[in-house]
Order: sequence, then C-alpha cells, then structure tokens
Amino acid sequence: MIDDLLNELERESSKCISCGFCDSVCPTYKTSGYDMTKTSRGRAQIGYSLFKELKSGNIGINVSDTFYSCLECHVCLQVCPTGVDSGRISDLSKTIISSVKKYEKPEAKAIVRNIMKYSKPLIFRDESYSWYDNVKAEKCDTLLYTGLMYQLMPYTENLERLRKKMGKRLFYAIISLAEAMPGITKLLKPDPSGVKRANKTLKNIVYALKSSDVSFDLLEEEEPYPGSLLYEYGYIVEFREYIKRIYKILGKYQNIITIDPHTYNLLKYEYPKYIPDFNLNVIYYLDMVDKNMLYKSNEYFAFHDPCHFQGEHLYNNAREIIENMGNVSYPERNGSRTYCCGGPDELLFPDISKNISAERYNQLKNISGNIVTSCPICLYSLSRNGNIKDIADVIQMHLKNRK
Ligand code: SF4
Ligand code: SF4
Repeated sequence: MIDDLLNELERESSKCISCGFCDSVCPTYKTSGYDMTKTSRGRAQIGYSLFKELKSGNIGINVSDTFYSCLECHVCLQVCPTGVDSGRISDLSKTIISSVKKYEKPEAKAIVRNIMKYSKPLIFRDESYSWYDNVKAEKCDTLLYTGLMYQLMPYTENLERLRKKMGKRLFYAIISLAEAMPGITKLLKPDPSGVKRANKTLKNIVYALKSSDVSFDLLEEEEPYPGSLLYEYGYIVEFREYIKRIYKILGKYQNIITIDPHTYNLLKYEYPKYIPDFNLNVIYYLDMVDKNMLYKSNEYFAFHDPCHFQGEHLYNNAREIIENMGNVSYPERNGSRTYCCGGPDELLFPDISKNISAERYNQLKNISGNIVTSCPICLYSLSRNGNIKDIADVIQMHLKNRK
C-alpha cells in the first residue's frame, strides 16, 4: 500500500509550480498568522519533500501539523492552474505519517482507539439518545442513519471549555491518559444546551421525512459511528477494518438515509472503494423532503454552503430547498469556492478553528443576520460567534400545514 501512496503523493505534489494563487483561498493560511506551512502551497511543497525523504528511507522533520491542520475543503483545487489538490496531498501524507509512531497526535490516537473499541469516538450518555423518544421506527428496507454527528457536537462544545479551564498541559495529559484508557471518555458530559439543540434538529429531520411520507427503520442505541475521523486522520488500515464491521450492520438494508454531508460523502464515495461488494443506495435526507409542502416566506437568509458538499462532490439540493423557503443570499465565497467553517480543525487546532469560524461568520453576517446551513459541524462551529440555524429547523417553520 505504501508504494501506491508514495506514487500518488509524488504525482500530486510535483505538479505544484509555487505560483501562490492558492494562498488567497486557503482558510488556514491567514488564520494561522500567515504560516507558510499551513497553506495549500506549503502542503504541496512539504508533501513533495516528504515524498523525497521517505524515498531516502527516513522522515527527518515533523510535518504532521502541516497536514493535520488541512480542512480538506478542496477549495485550493478550484484555483490551481496545474490542478493540485492539497486536500488529497494532506490525506495521503496523514496516512503515511500515521504509521510513524513519533508523529502521531495523542488526541487522534485516543479517538481512534475509542472508535475501534466502542464504535464511537467517545462514550455517549443517556441524554444523547433521548431524541428517539416517541419517534416511531418501522421495519423496512430503509434505514435513517444519523452517523452520530449531531449527537457528538455537544461533547465537542464541552471539550473546548475543559481545554480552556485546565490549560493546555493538563488537558493534553488527560488526553494522553484517554489514549491508554479510552473508557475514560465516559466522564465527559455533553453541553446541556447543545444536547437540547441537537435533539430538536434531529426531531425536525424526522418530522420533515415523516411529513414527506418516508418510512424508515432506526438502530437507536446500537447505531455506530461511520468512521469519518479514522479516514480524516489518515488511519486507513483501521478504517478499512472498521467499515467492514459497519457494513455488516448497514448492509441489512437497501437504502441508507444520511443527514450530514460528512457521513453522506463517506458512505457514498469512500466505502465503495474499500468494500468490493458495496451495494447500498446512499441518500441525503433533503432529497426525500417534499418541496411542495414548503411555503415561501418574506424572510431573508444568508446560506453557508458546507464544503463537503461543494469540494470534490457537488450537491446542490440544500440550496434549492432553502430558496423554496425565502429570499437567499450567498457570501462572496460560496459554491465551489465556499469558505470552510473551521470545524474540522476544532479538536487538533482550536485557535485556527476559532479564527476561521469568526471570519466566516462575519462574511455571512454582513449579508443577513438570519444565517442557515445544512451541516452539524458548520452549525456548531459558526454558532460560537452568534445565532445559526440548521436547515431542518427552517423547514419545520415553513411547512404549509403549520400556517
Ligand atoms: S495554486 Fe497550485 S501550483 Fe500554485 S502554489 Fe498553489 S498548489 Fe502550487
Ligand atoms: S483543502 Fe482547504 S485547508 Fe486544505 S490546503 Fe486546500 S484550501 Fe487549504
């Protein structure tokens, strides 16, 4: 495997002519204080150096921050004259360096161990399952698979508070402990207001589907995490092993309805690469929402395109739905050149993440205070600066039968 990865790394990174066009679009450049090792150009150049070092038999420099800080928004690819995808370079490099023990990140390792052991990045408390109350599952060949993203966000909120309270050293000492004893994460409580908000949105998603006459089954407390962080942190060996387990559960169904861009992309585009007999019909829930049941109000919305829907794999139905419910404006950075919310850097690079989310929030706020998005990570990340709505909550307010 390593040879294939190295060949691809060489192919992708050697295309860079160092023109610098990508510097202006890469969100981690400005927000890291113009750190050249955290821009798409830097990732391409360092990716090439990494390739050469590995070919010569060692990695002399610690380059992990360069690649782990990449948001994988793939916006750099949109402006690069030679077609370099630094998101892919980061993917490849993380896979390579995750096998070099001294460059692994303890936070990433703790999460990986939890996923492999508990099928979740951390152990959930009862309140994270309370949204199931009164939701009627039906035995059928369609599964509503949440991917646990909405449920995870309130834990991330509390993790951030803990980090501030404890200071970096103590916080990372505990993270290192969690690496050895993954079960310790059950001590982490989710933020109560975050749980309330996530539960409300999950119920609204269910309501939108039921109102559109969609029947589905649920796995309830048995629902596993899809493995996104294994993939994003470059633990491909573990990812391959893990998703075989998940596929045994999901493969009992014919249709899988997903509710967030990360899970949707992972199941639709990455699972089939590693599971030869993959034959699930992966759907995004907005494709099943009946647009005829929505009415258009006089409201003005600023819509944030999640980058996982605009980068490698274009998906635009979220825009169509929001445009069915009111007057929508988009910030200058939108569509294939959208600006990431900063969420993917939250766990490993909280300062960069905070700066990016503030920058994006201001871009949106300048258009309208009524900001909407369709991804739980964007929702959580941007909400650190002010009020943000999930598209499911807006749908709930625009159902004709509510008028
Ligand atoms: S735009 Fe492309 S070729 Fe130019 S510096 Fe960036 S990655 Fe290199
Ligand atoms: S994928 Fe996004 S964060 Fe990563 S290098 Fe490209 S523009 Fe920068």
